[in-house]
Amino acid sequence: MIRKFIKRVLTLGKRPGGETAGREAAVISAGSHGIHHAQISDGSRKVCETLQKDGFQAYVVGGAVRDLLAGMPLKDFDVATDATPEEIRRRFRRSRVIGRRFQIVHVYMGREIVEVTTFRSGAAGEDVHADAHGRLLRDNAFGTLAEDAARRDFTVNALYYDPVTERILDYHHGVADLRQKTLRMIGDPRTRYREDPVRMLRAVRLAAKLGLAIDPAARRPIREMASLLENVPAARLFDEMLKILTCGHAVRCLQDLRAEGLHHGMLPLLDDILTEPRGEKFVMLTLASTDARVRSGKSSSPSFLFAALLWHQVRAAWERAQAAGEPPIPALYQTMGEVLDLQGEKLAVTRRIAGDIKEIWALQPRFQQRAGRRPYGVLEHPRFRAAYDFLGLRVEAGEVEAELLDWWTRFQDADGETRAAMLLPEQSGKRRRRRKAARKTVNDTLAPCMPDKPAGGNP
Ligand code: ATP
Ligand code: MG
Repeated sequence: MIRKFIKRVLTLGKRPGGETAGREAAVISAGSHGIHHAQISDGSRKVCETLQKDGFQAYVVGGAVRDLLAGMPLKDFDVATDATPEEIRRRFRRSRVIGRRFQIVHVYMGREIVEVTTFRSGAAGEDVHADAHGRLLRDNAFGTLAEDAARRDFTVNALYYDPVTERILDYHHGVADLRQKTLRMIGDPRTRYREDPVRMLRAVRLAAKLGLAIDPAARRPIREMASLLENVPAARLFDEMLKILTCGHAVRCLQDLRAEGLHHGMLPLLDDILTEPRGEKFVMLTLASTDARVRSGKSSSPSFLFAALLWHQVRAAWERAQAAGEPPIPALYQTMGEVLDLQGEKLAVTRRIAGDIKEIWALQPRFQQRAGRRPYGVLEHPRFRAAYDFLGLRVEAGEVEAELLDWWTRFQDADGETRAAMLLPEQSGKRRRRRKAARKTVNDTLAPCMPDKPAGGNP
């Protein structure tokens, strides 16, 4: 039916060796596709208008167009143009070029940042380099609009919206696929996964988020190609993992990743966590509550998520250490360091996030201490809110008595007098001294984690 609306008007140049880059675009006119220009952010509209006034092509592209058509909440707006990064930068006073592999221009429009990229040609040209597995390492070549559409991953991601004429250019039947609820790969799925194995994860995430079925041709090779994820840099996997966890459909994503055999490469022990009932329960509770938060428009912090995902491992090792006679608090710190180091090898948990994760974990035993000045210190802690929410998850998982959470819920909202009345009696001096000694050991064992490093971009 959608074809009724479509008029074929544009023909663009052929890419050497690529069949898909020489296509014609279907043009879907204003009023036929359901996107109104008022739904486009002011910033991205102004960027397109300015570039077009100077004779360039400029479109809103990718996730924003797709999500608008699908009636989903929007994350951000990307603009694609035939202007070079330098030409873009010269036209916007508040802008800067970022990225080493492929230069992107960030244009600051009030509080909005519009990401503007020059059309790229994808897997053809002199600037394309691949590793032994066919993974693209560099594809810096600029291209035509048709080539830019062809190098995108899925048909629904290759839609170009012009906020001036309000038309959509659709090179790969993305609008029809979206209506038919199909996630279809542009080009040969095997080749495209080899070029960039992260596309397998993107397939699962986008299908879950948009309620689409992965086209069988794109789905079939995933299981056998899943091991290619091992060659993907850790920083890139971490970025994608975060997107999965915060897309609002993380429960479904995790189930689908498992079904496709894709979860092994993400966190080395995610497999173990999910097959161990206690671990799975905790992870699923976390993700369900994160999904609810994200869908109601609230944010979710990466440190909270990773703290929850890895908690089961920390807890199991911590219990073992205590059973072997180690004092609880130093044993907890030792275990935290070990778990983060192990995960950090594959997943580039940055130093800042690792620090926050440790604080969330380390506050857990401190919730038990409800005497003297200690609860006031916990309340003042910058990570109190996250650690308190984390305690809530542990209660839901049946790990901690609800009474403890109730106490902290009341304590944080109470006035000074009520708080003082809520405190439990002080412990004896001897036990206090022992705890103080344990805390000192803790400070000595705080180990540094992986350094912060920027994530790699998309090929
Ligand atoms: P979301 O923002 O929800 O993650 P998105 O599709 O906008 O979804 P981005 O990572 O923001 O994802 O990428 C923007 C666009 O760039 C995509 O819509 C797609 O056209 C293209 N793209 C992103 N990653 C890849 C990739 N790995 N291979 C090919 N094209 C990609
Ligand atoms: Mg996006």
